[in-house]
Amino acid sequence: MPFYRLDSPEDWSYTGEVNANHKWGLPGTHCPECNATWSSGMDSYPCTDLSGLPEAKILEEPRLEEDFEAFVRLREWVRPFAPPGVPLWPGTKFGPLVGSAWGTFGQLFMPYAWRLLIRREALEQLQAEGIRGLKGGRTQIRFRQRQAPELLELQIEPHGLLHRDCIPQGKDVPCGKCGRRGFRFPDNPMLDRASLPKHLDLFRLANFTTVIVATERLVEVIHRLGFEEVAIRELPLR
Ligand SMILES: [Zn+2]
Repeated sequence: MPFYRLDSPEDWSYTGEVNANHKWGLPGTHCPECNATWSSGMDSYPCTDLSGLPEAKILEEPRLEEDFEAFVRLREWVRPFAPPGVPLWPGTKFGPLVGSAWGTFGQLFMPYAWRLLIRREALEQLQAEGIRGLKGGRTQIRFRQRQAPELLELQIEPHGLLHRDCIPQGKDVPCGKCGRRGFRFPDNPMLDRASLPKHLDLFRLANFTTVIVATERLVEVIHRLGFEEVAIRELPLR
């Protein structure tokens, strides 16, 4: 069964724009082991509510860099609230997108390759079609217009891998301390067939989390329902 990458389109037929940030985020950090200073900033868990965390206020202020030990302490505060087993990279975002929006929107909206927003009624249509594993996180987006859509952000969790044969040699092993993998997305990507989840129709690649992958079932429904504003490209398997 084929798998497809979902990406932001090159041509937009709608005018919508969103200017919003997540309510909470982990800081970036400097790793004393691999010497990288980094922040993912692209992984988000919009269904993770940190309002019950006494220290959540600290995570409302975006900080570029934190001492590694302090970063680890913050990460361990968050872990009980996050989905079990997910990696909590430096810069990971949580909770609702807070901000403003304007213009017109299709059923789907990908402001970036790694973020997928959806109208509430479109999410309900996909769920009614039996698409598995879709979780819509509420947003706090104010619209500068009447007749505004309700936009949700899909929480897309990491499962499945790029095949090691398409990753430069030596780069497929993450840093033992911070988990960073230092390679660019390959020109000829291949998915590792054995690693792909069987219980979900939408996921991110665990070793390249900016890439969102959909099953053939989901892509068939997107086409059949005429959903727009998403680029779809098949990813080869190995
Ligand atoms: Zn490191």
